[in-house]
Amino acid sequence: MELLYDAATIHRKNHDPNTVQVSTLLSIKTGGCPEDCGYCPQAARYHTDIEGNDLMTVPHVKAQALRAKASGSSRVCMGAAWRNVKDGPEFDQVLEMVRTINKLDMEVCCTLGMITENQAKRLAEAGLYAYNHNLDTSEDYYKDVISTRAFEDRLDTIENVRKTNVTVCSGGIIGMGEQLEDRAGMLVALSSLSPQPESTPINALVPVEGTPMEDIAPIAIWDMLRMVATTRIVLPETQVRLSAGRTEMSREGQAMCFFAGANSIFAGDKLLTTPNPDVNDDMEMFKLLGLNPQKPFTKVSQPKTVEATDSEFQTLGEKPKWTRPGHKIERNEMAKQKAKLTD
Ligand code: SF4
Repeated sequence: MELLYDAATIHRKNHDPNTVQVSTLLSIKTGGCPEDCGYCPQAARYHTDIEGNDLMTVPHVKAQALRAKASGSSRVCMGAAWRNVKDGPEFDQVLEMVRTINKLDMEVCCTLGMITENQAKRLAEAGLYAYNHNLDTSEDYYKDVISTRAFEDRLDTIENVRKTNVTVCSGGIIGMGEQLEDRAGMLVALSSLSPQPESTPINALVPVEGTPMEDIAPIAIWDMLRMVATTRIVLPETQVRLSAGRTEMSREGQAMCFFAGANSIFAGDKLLTTPNPDVNDDMEMFKLLGLNPQKPFTKVSQPKTVEATDSEFQTLGEKPKWTRPGHKIERNEMAKQKAKLTD
């Protein structure tokens, strides 16, 4: 109760407690990812029911963004299941998506994997508002979740984003079998970033059949609540986002999270690939709780969009050497073997 009270007090000093941002997450390229994140059904090496899709077209993304706007979203987050961004026609297409959504007067966020400084600058020039790059968990536990990249790579990408005016969205997932110290470790890492991230998604693991974490039991609402409250205290100005795992939460549970400092939700029936509450149910909950959707650009003003023809940046075609630690994670190996047998 003390934790909730402290968090709610800090929340009220830094934010309007009755305003919650509604964001829409769009999977613009699904599945087939070369990484081995133990929680993710989009990793090509595991056998899951995910239907892979090539990169969406710009008109398709525009139509989805307009739909999201009409149902109260002020931000569109576009996710692509890539290890890192490669310069070329696909990245150019993503830049066009950014330009298109920014012109709809919505905040645009992208989560595309690791990016170089030049790619961050090109995204910024196109009008990107935020770049999402989660730390996922503590540096220690990271080695038990992912073997195809290192925690340090995450920090490097965040540093590249910080060389532009694009805001940083970075958070993590709880309920992956980590210790309380790992949750605290992740918050220490996030709160030590200077400046701190403007946005912090807190996800609860949604165990998906076929992934290495398929058998992990879902966490209790109390864990989520403690995590949200603690995040609010150590990251007082960030937008704390209730992300994956919200379908498992009651309205009462969500209300307590809003009280403790959560001030954003993701709308839409899917969160990349996992289920999410219906947007009409969310709006009904907002009405019940007296919450209002946040208008776009209330924290940071709208970036300008420079057209591709006027760009001052060139395609460098860089091939950065991102780390590939390659250590063995037993449960990831087992899931990979199981997938081979199923195929
Ligand atoms: S979380 Fe992202 S990087 Fe990891 S496997 Fe899934 S899509 Fe790939």
